[in-house]
Amino acid sequence: MELSLYRKYRPQTFAEIVGQDHVSRTLQNAVRSDAVAHAYVFAGSRGTGKTSMAKILAKALNCTGPDAEHVVTEPTVTPCGVCESCRAIAASTALDVIEMDAASNRGIDDIRELRDKVGYAPVNGRYKVYIVDEVHMLTKEAFNALLKTLEEPPPHVVFVLATTEAHKIPATILSRCQRFDFRRPRVHDIALVLSQIAASEHIEIDDPAILEIARHAEGGFRDAIGTLDKLSTFFGAAAISSREVLDVLGVIASELLFEIIDIVIERDPASALLFVQRLAERGTSYPQFIHDLLRHLRQIFLVQYLDDVSDDPATLLALSQNLEIDEQLLDRLARQAHQLPGRELLRLIELLGRAQTEIRGGLDPRLQLEMALVRAAHPEVDHSPDALEERLRRLESGSVPVAGAPPTSAATLAAAAPAVAAAAAKVAPVPPAPALVAATAPTVAAPAPTTAAPSPRDEPPSEAPAAGDGTDEPTGGAGRVKRAWQLVLQQAETQSVGLYAVIKDARVRADGERLVLALPSSLTLGKASSPDNRELLTAIIARTTGDAPDLQFLLEQNPAEPAAPRSTPDAGLTIAQRIALAKRELDASELPDDD
Ligand SMILES: [Zn+2]
Repeated sequence: MELSLYRKYRPQTFAEIVGQDHVSRTLQNAVRSDAVAHAYVFAGSRGTGKTSMAKILAKALNCTGPDAEHVVTEPTVTPCGVCESCRAIAASTALDVIEMDAASNRGIDDIRELRDKVGYAPVNGRYKVYIVDEVHMLTKEAFNALLKTLEEPPPHVVFVLATTEAHKIPATILSRCQRFDFRRPRVHDIALVLSQIAASEHIEIDDPAILEIARHAEGGFRDAIGTLDKLSTFFGAAAISSREVLDVLGVIASELLFEIIDIVIERDPASALLFVQRLAERGTSYPQFIHDLLRHLRQIFLVQYLDDVSDDPATLLALSQNLEIDEQLLDRLARQAHQLPGRELLRLIELLGRAQTEIRGGLDPRLQLEMALVRAAHPEVDHSPDALEERLRRLESGSVPVAGAPPTSAATLAAAAPAVAAAAAKVAPVPPAPALVAATAPTVAAPAPTTAAPSPRDEPPSEAPAAGDGTDEPTGGAGRVKRAWQLVLQQAETQSVGLYAVIKDARVRADGERLVLALPSSLTLGKASSPDNRELLTAIIARTTGDAPDLQFLLEQNPAEPAAPRSTPDAGLTIAQRIALAKRELDASELPDDD
């Protein structure tokens, strides 16, 4: 693929490199104090800026200054970018900067040639810089030859060995190099760079679309800028929104991932099946959906872990830096991390992993996805030991999900399982689907709690689902409508495309007898709350669920806004606030503020 934008916006100075401050700071210090090492290892996944950094280092060492009045005679941390040396290095034509791709020149002859020439003085510049890309691909013999050179390096030579797999480099080589680990860029960093490029190139693209590109750029800046390039070529002067981005990337909108996890949390198998039906209507790829859902679950898993260790500031700092958590979605991830007990989270990950394997083995993808989601949302239909344990636990705790319950031993479980199954059949029949809840309003009582109250961490947050089995509904009509929201949406879609388009992305919650729809933009807010749409939606809700809650429309709070206090009863700071604080302390000098 043509990467013209990527080349055009390749960073040209240390200051332009985003997200690798620990590397560029150390290198600049070395240049300033004339303490540049003979050999560096730049380790990190692709697209993190290793080659860009190497070329900037080369320019810093060899820059001669922009004009006759500003001659530079020794290495500088601010190479001019316009002298012959700087331009030649940028264009990969400099005689003293030798770029080698070890993936294609991996043999001993290539390294021998390097060894023969390495002793010659630089042609024009002060230093010869060898940039060896994917150095781990070298053969054993070539590594040995390289080692001899590194053991007695000529004074005017600097090696930069770049690699995506540092563990494959022999220890004898590593011990002679100064090593830098390039971080995966954060979503925020990538989004920042994309916005700047879009502004310079007059590409009309909104912020949610930029965030989606950044979120799915698994190859870092290179992938992200490549996607932007592709989109701008494809759509020309037309505005680009997240819908186009998701289509082009073939990935799943984060909204859908949050939605299906909410459905699992609310133990709502009927909605899970309707959800898969919607995926089918959109032509979504099921393997892609499972892939993206697993990625979402990994983030929830990490946030749970982060929450557990957050008392230790040093650990928190390291984690927030390195865990690749999508900071733009942190508040919402934290909410699901609190609502989905760790044990159920792991079970869902296992179920989806199994579905992936079965699909690769040739079984029907849709059926596998449906089975995994229904099992996760509805442990009663699953007879695995995990599911039985889950049912036992819920019975003991009076249906309130408990994350931290001590694991039951296999023996206890085996002994208890039949009794549990019988008890479950008597006391808590299979919960009716939400649509049925609305229509028939069952009166079965929930089993009485038989154990101590769950620990505080496990108490459902304020907007948690109602009691697990749907046999009790403290939030009344609005709560029922929320649970049947998928049906409402489906009805809306068949009745009014206009209404459906404006409410499909709404986040819905019950607030007493009111149904609150949080809309992502003031445009959709205006349309959704128009008298016509309000009346139509009320009628659809009444017909679908038999309820007529008051409707309230409001603008969705920016989930990434760290200053806005959440309404949850958390003592002290939220996770997002703690991480924002930590980031500010560590990064304040290098990065612009999040806003
Ligand atoms: Zn220069």
